[in-house]
Amino acid sequence: MAEALRPGSTIGILGGGQLGRMLALAAARLGLRSHIYCPDAESPAFDVAAARSVAGYDDPRALAAFAQSVDVVTYEFENVPVAAVEQLLPSVPVRPNARALAVSQDRRHEKAYLAELGIPTAAFAPFDDRPSLDRALGAIGLPAVLKTRRLGYDGKGQAVIRWADEAGAALEAMRGAPAILERRVRFTREISVIGVRGLDGRVATYDPVENVHRDGILATSTVPSRIADAVAEKACALATTLMTALDYVGVLGVELFVTGEGEEAELLVNEFAPRVHNSGHWTEDACAVSQFENHIRAIAGWPLGPTARHADAVMTNLIGAEVEGWRRLAAEPGARLHIYGKRQMRAGRKMGHVNRLAPLGYGARVRAERGPARTLALDHVLLAMPEGREAEARAFYEGLLGMPEIVKPPNLAKRGGCWFQSGASQVHLGVEKEFRPARKAHPALIVGDLAAISETLARGGHPVREDEPLPGFSRVYVDDPFGNRIELMQPDRERR
Ligand code: AMP
Repeated sequence: MAEALRPGSTIGILGGGQLGRMLALAAARLGLRSHIYCPDAESPAFDVAAARSVAGYDDPRALAAFAQSVDVVTYEFENVPVAAVEQLLPSVPVRPNARALAVSQDRRHEKAYLAELGIPTAAFAPFDDRPSLDRALGAIGLPAVLKTRRLGYDGKGQAVIRWADEAGAALEAMRGAPAILERRVRFTREISVIGVRGLDGRVATYDPVENVHRDGILATSTVPSRIADAVAEKACALATTLMTALDYVGVLGVELFVTGEGEEAELLVNEFAPRVHNSGHWTEDACAVSQFENHIRAIAGWPLGPTARHADAVMTNLIGAEVEGWRRLAAEPGARLHIYGKRQMRAGRKMGHVNRLAPLGYGARVRAERGPARTLALDHVLLAMPEGREAEARAFYEGLLGMPEIVKPPNLAKRGGCWFQSGASQVHLGVEKEFRPARKAHPALIVGDLAAISETLARGGHPVREDEPLPGFSRVYVDDPFGNRIELMQPDRERR
């Protein structure tokens, strides 16, 4: 087996974003140097690395020089061209391997590969044109989601199809890029597992973490996640199967949907990332050895470090202008602030994150004391309301959802609207200038007392319509004061 790299060796990192920066910081702690290769001259990782190459991934001379100057190469984003890795390979080991990179770059291959391993995913179907999309829709059913096969991230390159007549617009949104059709999953929560596999084949996983996305971008990751121990073990086992099959070396992030509750919950893998993962940032402060250090250990041929947690944690991404709150966050007890040093702030850009820690077991205890969250909104949580009627909408939804309104994230200040939050669940009411009421229901899953909510609404003059029951759920439709039709669902097991 290859020898472990000695301190003083150089790690080559393809990509210069925040993940590369945090990898370089972790490497430095172990006495390893980093050489960052990135086409963007303003890459935040350059600030903390010993060497840099500013060059394209298709520049053979720059790649050759890079290969000569480093002892191992890794990458911090999965869209590095496989051809670049293949050019480096004769001169220097690249970890994780090119296969992991190639499989993860194409959603169709990724899903087919997971299926081969017996790892469940959302039902999916490839298609080439409108007629084959219609056939695929027939097979998959509605609602469904179109996703570009390549280069999709943070919900980009996706279009939801709720009704058959939306298929044309969804296809247009793909702008001719090859795409796949996927069944839209009614998940109870999203989790991810961060796993690591060493050069010697040893595998370790961190505790599964519960993720909440906002506008397709990861907003928070909370650990422990609200899943049964047996389900957590199953999630870790899926990640282990995947890493072993790929003969993987390094950290891997696996994103999963959880459907159902408790011991009977089912897991579907959404996708995996052959790199350190945003939903693993909590490990920096809640574990003795973070995902970044374990990735460096693995690719350098060092023994893996412990993945156990010494605290409960909530990681909150600082998106766009949210980073301006750094002064307040730096003063907040129990909060660990991480800022990426990006030169330019843009709406939707990840600028930093904050890890809030609590003693181990605290999260579970608080949950047990409070009982189940009264409202768990999921799936289509973005509701629209007309401009100028915001106060009315706020009052209506606050009553409906039984959640207090929370302070609007600063990056959304200009967009209007408001946010409600209960535990990890969030509902965003957006304001639309060109308001068109959604007559097709926007479902919200209500964990609480649907009968009481319906009664309150009926008293306020809001028509409540009962519909065909779904097995395991009660549901009603409500028309809000703006003409939106909302579907409220309540799992029967939550009924009093
Ligand atoms: P992705 O780019 O595939 O990671 O998707 C970003 C987010 O969109 C996911 O974390 C989910 O919140 C949502 N999403 C993606 N695919 C599906 C699906 N098939 N069903 C339901 N939600 C999905």
